[in-house]
Amino acid sequence: MANTSPRARPRWSPAPPPRRPSPSLCRSTRPQAHGSQAPTRCPSRRRWACASTAPPPEATVTDWPSPNHGDRRGQVPSLIVIHYTGMADAAQARARLCDPRAEVSAHWLIDPDGTTEQLVCETRRAWHAGAGRWQGADDINSRSIGIELANPGDRPFPAPQMAALRRLLRAAMARWSIPPAHVIAHSDLAPGRKIDPGPRFDWEGLARDQLALFARPEPTAPAPPLAPSLTTLGYPDHPARLDAFRLRHRPWATGPETPADRQTAARLLLHENIPGESRLRDGGGAPS
Ligand SMILES: [Zn+2]
Repeated sequence: MANTSPRARPRWSPAPPPRRPSPSLCRSTRPQAHGSQAPTRCPSRRRWACASTAPPPEATVTDWPSPNHGDRRGQVPSLIVIHYTGMADAAQARARLCDPRAEVSAHWLIDPDGTTEQLVCETRRAWHAGAGRWQGADDINSRSIGIELANPGDRPFPAPQMAALRRLLRAAMARWSIPPAHVIAHSDLAPGRKIDPGPRFDWEGLARDQLALFARPEPTAPAPPLAPSLTTLGYPDHPARLDAFRLRHRPWATGPETPADRQTAARLLLHENIPGESRLRDGGGAPS
């Protein structure tokens, strides 16, 4: 691991040869030809340059070294999809996300120490989501920003990494007017196929900062049927969508559907976010 540390080389240096490819990173089902016409101006870069709060010292912006991107097909980012890399370390993940043979990418990669690297310009279509649907629409790649958190998938996300994610989310949400309801997990849009960022990801903490939605069941709350609630929230019609929903809000729940699942979904639809806190009124509502 030490000899592949991203600290060992400049961030803009060519990616090292990838190790054995891992299937964990999220492959687009229809990768386009490798884009070579990157835009000359990128709002995400300019935002870093002129943000009222200076970029954190550990943040690094590069000339989007991944060749794996394409045209957004007329869409603009309206979702942010959070992933974990599922690989041993950030260096391996970076190499794969920048390998044209792998045909996968993400706009951002955040190391466990909080180092934040831009691999693809946000105006371009990165290949991170693959097959899936959200709010009844497919081609998530064309209308989303993908953020990869370097994590093998079996451990908590370190505080510096989560702090960097918060900074990045605030900036990206402001750039593209994306509300908290539109910050989702890869598992949300691909039930039964993806589980990242997994049960250890702190959605509740993000929700406290109005960077995502999260709810707990309220025993006295109404418990309407779950299926319509999940559909309204955005989950695709899939047998595993209860599992996907629980990964976000009740990650250690097991067994068949319970009233707690129904109450949790109902609270989300009402934007009753964290118990004990005021309602989250993000203006996003349930997107059409
Ligand atoms: Zn993923």
